[in-house]
Amino acid sequence: MIELQHVSKTYGDRHAVADLSLRIGPGELVVLIGPSGSGKSTTLRLINRLVEFDTGSVRFAGQDIRAFAPEVLRRRMGYAIQSVGLFPHWTVAKNIGTVPRLLGWPAARIAARVQALLELLQLDPGQFARRYPHELSGGQQQRVGVARALAADPEVLLMDEPFGALDPVTRVALQQALKRIHALSGKTIVLVTHDIDEALYLGSRIVLLRDGRLVQDGSPLALLTRPADDFVTDFLGRSELGLKRLALGTVADRLRAGDQADGEPLRGDTNLREALSAFFVQGRECLPVVDARGQHLGALHLTDLLAARPADPPAAATGEGV
Ligand code: ADP
Repeated sequence: MIELQHVSKTYGDRHAVADLSLRIGPGELVVLIGPSGSGKSTTLRLINRLVEFDTGSVRFAGQDIRAFAPEVLRRRMGYAIQSVGLFPHWTVAKNIGTVPRLLGWPAARIAARVQALLELLQLDPGQFARRYPHELSGGQQQRVGVARALAADPEVLLMDEPFGALDPVTRVALQQALKRIHALSGKTIVLVTHDIDEALYLGSRIVLLRDGRLVQDGSPLALLTRPADDFVTDFLGRSELGLKRLALGTVADRLRAGDQADGEPLRGDTNLREALSAFFVQGRECLPVVDARGQHLGALHLTDLLAARPADPPAAATGEGV
């Protein structure tokens, strides 16, 4: 879907991106991560031609991106950024409908699309469609920004630190919303962050950059368990690696089916990091496990949890209509 080959971009004598090659397939959620100044935003902006590269090639849907007029390319690729950039004197509905209006959609189709997107982002259309950006919280503005980026049903969603300025609770809620949208829509998403937990939670693939160069490209589990070098290990945060690995697995991966145990039950879909705290809180070495309806599934033993090498997180399902 998107292919960068030996792409470089310099500003003065400084390489922002250096000899970067990357293939992003349809339906992937790829997270670009790295320290500040490592070239993440520049890489993202090369893809929709907000930045022109010096050497190499960038292809989209099988064609050189220079063959597309920039505005055509940008309509096929939604773009959401940290500062949101909502138009302050336009209502939420008008903001979301920006690109469909440019494309000349009939008013009824735009209204239906705005309604569907507000629902998807869990904003009640009756309450929010007619509000102005200053009447929204930061998290609500960010949801509107994501809805606007999705409005014309773009094939690709490019997101630059979209949740960077939010408080942790709102941030987690929006990460969950994005994961759901990705699973429902099967859209190709490229997201920039410097937050490793966000990358591990969201990414089906993580691309770690340093000084404009690719250091490692792989699944969250591959980066955690097979870091390419000390920089990767340091970046992922050596001290928390064990816990981060645990957060990738669920109780259901480790339970002994049919076993019995006493204590407050864990749900099978709880991640192993949360399960570990439940063991400490309850002071037990074995806990019962139930499914979402409360049916007994088995038991989780603390020893099995500590020995855990969690399986890869499940791949997102694909679908249409978002
Ligand atoms: P990141 O997103 O990882 O923080 P960027 O892609 O924004 O990194 O920047 C990579 C490097 O390129 C940095 O050293 C930055 O200062 C430089 N850079 C980015 N944009 C410009 C610009 N428009 N003019 C000059 N230097 C830039």
